[in-house]
Amino acid sequence: MDEMENKIDNNIISVFELQKKFVASRKSLNINYRIDILKKLKANILKYEKELCDALQKDLNKSPEESYMCEIGLVLEEISHMLKHIKKYAKPQKISSAISNFPSKSYIKKCPYGVVFVLSPWNYPFMLSLIPIIDAISAGNSVILRSSEFSPNVSQFIKKLVDETFERGCVDVVLGGRDVATQLLELDFDYIFYTGSTRVGEIVLKKAAEHFTPVTLEMGGKSPCIVDETANVPLSAKRIVFGKFLNAGQTCVAPDFVYCDKKIKDQLILEIEKEIVKQYSTHPLKNPNFPKMINQKQFDAMKSFITKDNIAFGGKTDNSSLKIEPTILNATFDDKVMKEEIFGPILPIVTFENLDEAIFNINNKLTKPLALYIFSNSKINQQKVENYCDFGGGCINDTVIHIANSNLPFGGIKHSGMGAYHGKFGFETFTHFKSIVKRSTRIDLPFRYQPIGKFKKWLIRKFLK
Ligand code: NAD
Repeated sequence: MDEMENKIDNNIISVFELQKKFVASRKSLNINYRIDILKKLKANILKYEKELCDALQKDLNKSPEESYMCEIGLVLEEISHMLKHIKKYAKPQKISSAISNFPSKSYIKKCPYGVVFVLSPWNYPFMLSLIPIIDAISAGNSVILRSSEFSPNVSQFIKKLVDETFERGCVDVVLGGRDVATQLLELDFDYIFYTGSTRVGEIVLKKAAEHFTPVTLEMGGKSPCIVDETANVPLSAKRIVFGKFLNAGQTCVAPDFVYCDKKIKDQLILEIEKEIVKQYSTHPLKNPNFPKMINQKQFDAMKSFITKDNIAFGGKTDNSSLKIEPTILNATFDDKVMKEEIFGPILPIVTFENLDEAIFNINNKLTKPLALYIFSNSKINQQKVENYCDFGGGCINDTVIHIANSNLPFGGIKHSGMGAYHGKFGFETFTHFKSIVKRSTRIDLPFRYQPIGKFKKWLIRKFLK
């Protein structure tokens, strides 16, 4: 540990030590303390809303409307949910006692883990930093956040918000590049909550294993969007365009590609084109509300998927603004665009002959997706997909909106994630369930003590069966 600590910046170590002291004080075991800081956080977010919208515009060209709908509003919702339910969630849970423990009381105490490390990405830089913080502090933990270096304006804003809202040791933000995240991962945290790519998730999981630190990993991958021949095609197109091009496709739960019945492909493409024009105009690159790629690297990666042979619609790019217009590609599973998560406004359309073939390919050619969507009016087909495909979560006849319901757990499975959060599930993610049996000292039944003769043996068998 000493040798490792030498490699870690002194400022990081002092923030960590301060957090450990805060946890040791047990100050946040007091529910009223948690309620007060949640209320203060909500008030300060509303107070600085304009500044936050400006930061989101600078980093991603998100419009204030999109910022409220997809970031600020969801964060406020999560705080409201916790304020409403925190007392119930934190209450010890009475459990019936085993007859063999008579007389006794049994209960589960909801205990915080301690110091939590939150590592967040750049695509929804406010929401994906704040919701884990809200869930963690509601459960009584302290948090060190390292938000992404690729959304610097929002990261600076969060630091200011956190510094003004929380006492030091309760929630702290450490800014910096990958080296800072790497140093933080050396520390012996009580819990790590990571959101980002599967590649970095693997690094986080390995580092956490060195300290036996429990983790939640929220990652990505290719999320399919099935459209079968019974679907309402115009409505499907509208909802696919909404989910895919939100934040210019830089959304973990965006439909990565459309997987449709061959018979409806042409009609679906036509309807998607119409919707793109309706929602983003005939010149999306000039639309001031259409977000940009986060940086040159991401812009170049998106451009590399587009060739003159595969474009079905769109395909224009603007290097000066880092914008790529909503683009539809003809594709098969063999194409480059189908080999990795896209994370941009590019929508490949792959076709199937029948749903069983589609289910087989989803299960065999992809890792388990974070999200899966099916547009269908056939109950049998809807249930087939629900039952035969493994995925984190999803929608029937819509895209993306499952993330906005605080009563649903949000998380992936295997390569797309481990664990879940939001609402009650978020509280539980950051909670250690401590089992307690409280015995009476007045009565002490003798049958478990040695020596165990014939009668005791009979009694034990009577109780334990
Ligand atoms: P990323 O993996 O590059 O980075 C995630 C975080 O890890 C960032 O804070 C980054 O600075 C840090 N990081 C990068 N390399 C690191 C290293 N070697 N050691 C330690 N830390 C390191 O991801 P990103 O580009 O910021 O985000 C895009 C990815 O995140 C996509 O794959 C997307 O699907 C996924 N994502 C998932 C969710 C979800 O909720 N499941 C949400 C948003 C994004």
